[in-house]
Amino acid sequence: MKAKGTDAAAFLKRAVELGAKDAKLIPTSRVFTGEWVRLKCQFGCGAYASSRNCPPYSPTPDRTRRILDEYRHAILVHGDGTTGIREIVVKLEREVFLAGCHKAFAYACGPCSLCKECNLEGACRHEDDSRPAMEACGIDVFATARAAGLPIEVVTSHDCAQNYYGLVLVE
Ligand code: SF4
Repeated sequence: MKAKGTDAAAFLKRAVELGAKDAKLIPTSRVFTGEWVRLKCQFGCGAYASSRNCPPYSPTPDRTRRILDEYRHAILVHGDGTTGIREIVVKLEREVFLAGCHKAFAYACGPCSLCKECNLEGACRHEDDSRPAMEACGIDVFATARAAGLPIEVVTSHDCAQNYYGLVLVE
């Protein structure tokens, strides 16, 4: 990474300090998108259209691909659910930004639950803390995690291991 003051190892360590189980620096070419991801949001997810961070309001897979292609590196953040991915990536995005990476942007995990009811007609009430989920923007979280060598499986019961992912675009 070239931006002044950027240190990938320090960002990865910081992600763990913030509560991540693991974090990896990956090329954005290894962040995968898919139209099927949006399909799953639209049919089968009860949160569809419930917040401005979810489809149909969130960026489409095509737009997300174009956005990803404007970056070279991202930090994939892995959690086991004990600490919220959204809180971790939002804090990390700010720290990466303040380190000189002016394009830093975070993707969270799951629907936004910061408000009891989303303000769909106007501005977000928590613009500093609210970010769309990877999957809400058409990112194939399964393919992306596996390409990074991190665990993810279809969860078939409450006994299965829980793996959650967020992403911070760096530069
Ligand atoms: S913080 Fe509130 S207004 Fe903003 S996206 Fe989330 S639910 Fe909607």
